Amino acid sequence: MVDAMITTTRFAPSPTGLLHLGHAYGALFAQDQARRRKGRFLLRLEDIDPGRCRAEFAAAIIDDLRWLGLDWDAPIRRQSEHLEEYRRLLARLAARGLLYPCFCTRKDIEAEIARSGHAPHGPDGALYPGLCRSLSADQRAEKQAAGQTCALRLDMAAAIAQTGTLWWHDHHAGRIAAQPELFGDVVLARKDTPTSYHLAVTWDDALQQVTLVTRGQDLFAATHVHRLLQALLELPTPQYHHHPLRTDSQGRRYAKRDKALTIAALRAAGRSPAEIQALAGFIPLSK
Ligand code: GLU
Repeated sequence: MVDAMITTTRFAPSPTGLLHLGHAYGALFAQDQARRRKGRFLLRLEDIDPGRCRAEFAAAIIDDLRWLGLDWDAPIRRQSEHLEEYRRLLARLAARGLLYPCFCTRKDIEAEIARSGHAPHGPDGALYPGLCRSLSADQRAEKQAAGQTCALRLDMAAAIAQTGTLWWHDHHAGRIAAQPELFGDVVLARKDTPTSYHLAVTWDDALQQVTLVTRGQDLFAATHVHRLLQALLELPTPQYHHHPLRTDSQGRRYAKRDKALTIAALRAAGRSPAEIQALAGFIPLSK
């Protein structure tokens, strides 16, 4: 049993491509935050997307991180090996009446938004217009019998009614009131896999006793949803540190399409780990 007071951080890439300088910064930052507090640092592979994740990217990520000098304190957790755990969480939420099956295709959603002429937007784009929220049990059974696949969505209004106002703490931004309603009825189980980023990350951070979640500013808003899921599933709330995203010399965020700035390409071009740390803009604080 790990002492819950020990600072535990993690780096949690999705093996959908090679690591770039932005990832190097995120991994080094997470490890450094643990080391400076004499804590633990973990590596987790968020490989739930069967269409985009590839074993060779996972292997390359592990190899690049080791080469960069990262060292994790527990075996790597691979989310794809734990789908049964996520199914159990979904069953708990369903038992509280908080989930509903959604049969919509992307096209159905676009058509409904166009039809209604009303398209409230959240951090991930247009909010789900609620088409499947009020289907009757018969209508659901009929669609299932016809072989239509479904995602599971959280009934956001019902969920918030059960938790009331929630708060979380960000080392950079301070005390934050959670606003999960910004996301509308988020998908918690995708059509192709029995979980989603939000559900899996929230569960894994709790299970692995992560006390400080560090990640890029681009995921700041997602934390509103994670805080809600923690309350619904009675999980502890870690502290958060969303760091600014690193940018290239033109001020653009690093992205998977920037092939020349992957760690693998820079390694192949003869760069050293120390040079990559410097290129990523990482200044260790732990020494
Ligand atoms: N797997 C996510 C990504 O690669 C990061 C998850 C997180 O740090 O919360 O973008």
